[in-house]
Amino acid sequence: MLAIEEHVELKPYNTLALHSVARYFFSLETIADLPAALAFARDKKLPVLMLGGGSNLVLAADFDGLVINNRLQGISFDVYGEEVKVTAAAGENWHQLVMLCLRNGYYGLENLVLIPGSVGAAPIQNIGAYGVELVQSFHSLTGWDTEQQVFRSLSAEDCQFAYRDSIFKHALKGRFYITEVSLQLSTRPEATIAYKALREQLTADGCLQPTPLQVADTVMAVRRSKLPDPAELANAGSFFKNPLVSAAALKQLQQQEPSIVHYPQPNGEVKLAAGWLLQQAGWKGKRVGNVGMHSEQSIVLVNYDSATGSDVLELASRIQQDIMQKFSVQLEIEPVVY
Ligand code: FAD
Ligand code: NAP
Repeated sequence: MLAIEEHVELKPYNTLALHSVARYFFSLETIADLPAALAFARDKKLPVLMLGGGSNLVLAADFDGLVINNRLQGISFDVYGEEVKVTAAAGENWHQLVMLCLRNGYYGLENLVLIPGSVGAAPIQNIGAYGVELVQSFHSLTGWDTEQQVFRSLSAEDCQFAYRDSIFKHALKGRFYITEVSLQLSTRPEATIAYKALREQLTADGCLQPTPLQVADTVMAVRRSKLPDPAELANAGSFFKNPLVSAAALKQLQQQEPSIVHYPQPNGEVKLAAGWLLQQAGWKGKRVGNVGMHSEQSIVLVNYDSATGSDVLELASRIQQDIMQKFSVQLEIEPVVY
């Protein structure tokens, strides 16, 4: 018999601290309980929300379905030569996993340190920071497929990883629940420091050939100096994705904004910095009622005090319209909206 709670307040479970009540709530601690919990929802024709750390969600209203709070734990290491396969249960904390790997001398994740949330959510948007994405260390994952009614494993290719994107936001949305993720790391201490902000800080610290541990320390210091801590000021990290535009669209924008920040992509597209567009349009530090865009990080939407999901989405919509009007660029919300 599953211990399913009813009418549970989700405010403590999402980093934007939005009030929302879950009709049903289940803490998943054993993999074997997952099919039974999903069958409960299916029998009642309820939607399901698999919840990790709640750091990439907008709870726009009450959730009239089953929330499954992923608390699956367990980490194992498989070392062969210089290669290490790390397998972690989906409910493990991502940052703690990165730190554990570093302490053991298993490298590759250091640029992704201090990203909030769970291991199981990391593949959903192919988390990325400071020039590194999850896909670069990804081996495979396992989860429950609700259509085939089996646990099955997916490779990186199956997951269709892209910039802040994967198959779990599209064809497998609401169909596949991740229980375990495997990563391919190395005992070779190679550091990836091409990202400008990281390289500049390391140079300023006189650290020209950093170890992976020094890279992690630097990323943590930069992040702490720039990003609001959700425990102090509720937020869900970057609220908009950096938009990708064609080279022709960039050319047109450059006539209007010669200094527009842009990064050419291998496929010929160009990535614009959403934060730069927001700043140019005057949204940096702007507050509208209980919500606003952070004064240091224009891309981070913050909840100053008991904002609702509607407050958040209304501000997002105003910003999207404004950016469209000023730059003809469509901003896409990064967190998943419920
Ligand atoms: P949740 O918010 O709980 O869930 C997000 C989505 O994934 C939901 O749709 C949920 O249903 C789904 N999901 C969660 N777990 C599973 C599962 N096991 N199976 C199937 N679906 C699942 N992101 C970056 O990419 N880079 C950053 O640098 C970064 N920095 C951040 C900084 C701050 C301060 C904050 C608040 C957020 C930041 N984020 C960043 C966003 C966020 O931390 C990541 O996207 C993270 O992976 C979300 O994990 P979570 O467990 O909190 O996911
Ligand atoms: P930043 O260093 O001020 O840079 C602004 C934007 O420019 C970033 O979004 C980044 O894109 C892009 N950029 C910078 N150098 C680049 C390069 N060499 N090539 C391609 N793109 C480049 O960014 P920040 O806001 O302080 O964040 C630092 C890092 O942490 C970024 O990687 C960011 O994605 C990540 N972060 C993510 C979240 C989130 O919730 N998703 C929250 C906080 C921080 P990318 O975003 O593609 O890297």
